[in-house]
Amino acid sequence: MISTEIKNFGILGYPVGHSLSPQMYKAAFEAAGFVNYNYIPLQVHAGKLFMAVEAIKGLEFRGVNVTIPHKMTIARYLDAIDADALVIGAVNTVVNDGGMLTGYNTDVAGFLSALAEANFLPEDCHAVILGAGGAARAILWGLCKKRAEFITIGARNLQKANALAKDFMTQGQVEAFDWNSDEFKEMLQTADILINTTPLGMFPHVDDMPPVDLKLLPEGALVYDIIYNPAETKLLQTAKELGYPTLNGLSMLLLQGKEAYRLYTGETPDMEVMAATLKKNLAMK
Ligand code: NAP
Repeated sequence: MISTEIKNFGILGYPVGHSLSPQMYKAAFEAAGFVNYNYIPLQVHAGKLFMAVEAIKGLEFRGVNVTIPHKMTIARYLDAIDADALVIGAVNTVVNDGGMLTGYNTDVAGFLSALAEANFLPEDCHAVILGAGGAARAILWGLCKKRAEFITIGARNLQKANALAKDFMTQGQVEAFDWNSDEFKEMLQTADILINTTPLGMFPHVDDMPPVDLKLLPEGALVYDIIYNPAETKLLQTAKELGYPTLNGLSMLLLQGKEAYRLYTGETPDMEVMAATLKKNLAMK
């Protein structure tokens, strides 16, 4: 059915020109018959975030996605924060209900749905997370929600990793290590899943990878890199050569987008259209 109602959406960030969200959402809106739904990149400098949020209300945007560097700071300008976003401390989706702005974090749902699609059951698993930034926080919370038995964080900055582990201490059994330490290498030997949340290996630095000896992982451990550009990072390529199952970040990206679309419209997007659009645009980069 065609809908001629006008609704505006966008992605707030700086820089934001590289984002694939405009193409992905526009394709999904078009496929659903929302011919007057617009989605634009909104380049917003850190010091102007408050004005940008006011403009969302004034211009009656229905919703915005939020990316670097605003994911943590935008919360203070919103009227309500959903439970997941509150625990994670980051918002990646804002919905405007008649001037009332609510912040959500759809990365958790995206991550958990991607694991489910890959037939990986996080319940009772030992998960090893590489990195201690924003994405690691969302993933850590997702694993705690699913009652992972043990979560190991390995990072270059032990202080930051320890602080992250401490934040989630009451939610699950979480421990942090310097990823070059012998203790961390020992933890790798019992991992059911290794998740890279660092940007090491992301385009254009495709020859980089986290300093992890994958051979220490048990047979059958899933090696998951949440990077989606390139589709196969050096980490995943190495894991594949060693015979481990692998998963890249495209499904998480798509499934967090599905969740945001559902929050915006109350409907489920055409996932084939969204996936095809993302793949086409990634291939052009
Ligand atoms: P972030 O908050 O900046 O965190 C990045 C983490 O990686 C930090 O722990 C950082 O350590 C570490 N790191 C960065 N550069 C490093 C290097 N050269 N060597 C070792 N460690 C390094 O970023 P984020 O938002 O979590 O995003 C991280 C990655 O996940 C990006 O590649 C992003 O595209 C991807 N991502 C994918 C999805 C998806 O849907 N697939 C969603 C979110 C994010 P320090 O604290 O020491 O700097």
